[in-house]
Amino acid sequence: MSFISTGLSPSLLRAVAAHGYQVPTPIQSAAIPAVLQGRDVLGSAQTGSGKTGAFALPLLQALENAPPESLRRAALLVLVPTRELATQVGEAFRSLAQHLPRALKVSIVFGGVSINPQMLRLRGGADIVVATPGRLLDLVHHNAISLAQVKALVLDEADRLLDLGFAEELARILALLPQQRQNLFFSATFPPAVQALAQTLLRDPVRIEIQPEPQNLPDIVQRAIAVDAGRRTQLLRHLMAEHRWGRVLVFVATKHAAEMIADKLRKARINAEPFHGELSQGKRTQVLADFKASRLKVVIATDVAARGLDISQLPVVVNFDLPRSAVDYTHRIGRTGRAGEAGVAVSFVSADTEAHFRLIEKRQGLSLPLEVVPGFEPQQLAPAAPVSLDGQPIDTSTGGIKGKRPSKKDKLRAAAASAQSTSA
Ligand code: AMP
Repeated sequence: MSFISTGLSPSLLRAVAAHGYQVPTPIQSAAIPAVLQGRDVLGSAQTGSGKTGAFALPLLQALENAPPESLRRAALLVLVPTRELATQVGEAFRSLAQHLPRALKVSIVFGGVSINPQMLRLRGGADIVVATPGRLLDLVHHNAISLAQVKALVLDEADRLLDLGFAEELARILALLPQQRQNLFFSATFPPAVQALAQTLLRDPVRIEIQPEPQNLPDIVQRAIAVDAGRRTQLLRHLMAEHRWGRVLVFVATKHAAEMIADKLRKARINAEPFHGELSQGKRTQVLADFKASRLKVVIATDVAARGLDISQLPVVVNFDLPRSAVDYTHRIGRTGRAGEAGVAVSFVSADTEAHFRLIEKRQGLSLPLEVVPGFEPQQLAPAAPVSLDGQPIDTSTGGIKGKRPSKKDKLRAAAASAQSTSA
């Protein structure tokens, strides 16, 4: 399919050409005509597949054709889960909108920075608002913006926005929007519970599911390396030197680990910075800009960096700590191998995380050999098959992806079971 046959206007075809896009990606071919027809869309396609263009291009066309009196009324609202994604998506709208005959105003708003400049910039209204939910609500409460004229709502990384962490804020925002509107929900992953919730919010949606075909699959080589937990930083340094990795994005489980490992690497004269939710927004922006400009070699990040970020020519992602779920694994490794480039995703697996890794692998439909790097042969043995509190073996092949430590519920169940057996 060509961009012409998607139904895009001449000015947007110019925008597409100016960006060097020759043919629409599969999600764009499917979504652009549906969005142009005003349909709701539930779109799922792998990360880096051109999702932003899939909603931005047809929605810009709707604004291009809108009557003048509807301008600067926040007709288009795009919600995203992280501040960095707000900037990235907002900038994508700005650069695509440059080619339209009429100037459109894109406002990017997110928390963690002073609200006043954002309020000032919203004076006189905006056409497109790209926002994280919390700050958007703050701006509504300060009367800096009204959502009463929103014609189209986009949830980017929709599964994240629809899950519990954002549920309350999202519900409050939805209550402020007109009933009559177009809804576009996009994400790389849509767990079934989230899909069911999405269905209740969408009107007769066009469902677009782009199955990754071999030629569309990001070119990511996935590797798993067995290593003792205490030697992971050394192994990371060894791999960086051996493979001459230019830039590496390293994922860890906690802010503390991010700080600690960045510190260790800096002591070894490696230019590294942590990236997590407790840093000031100024610092987060700086770290990301330095990383994108290759001024920084290693970023040690929590999952706040796992979604949506488009860092071109990022050759390597390392799971220093394994992700909690298979969905997080998909998002993390999707930071590399973007837009047709090659990438490597390496997971460090130690004795106590091997069972967890096998579950992620199973959910991903993968089967990776556990490699051993000479000099880093693991000394620790895998724990014996896990047993529950009442001494029964746990079958880890049937679930429990968040680790095999018993949850509160497991403990309650075990306590109830042992109470029953003692009273019997
Ligand atoms: P996204 O999935 O929206 O984050 O896009 C991933 C990358 O693909 C971005 O760097 C886009 O600029 C690029 N991209 C989007 N659409 C196309 C296209 N039709 N052809 C080539 N590259 C594209």
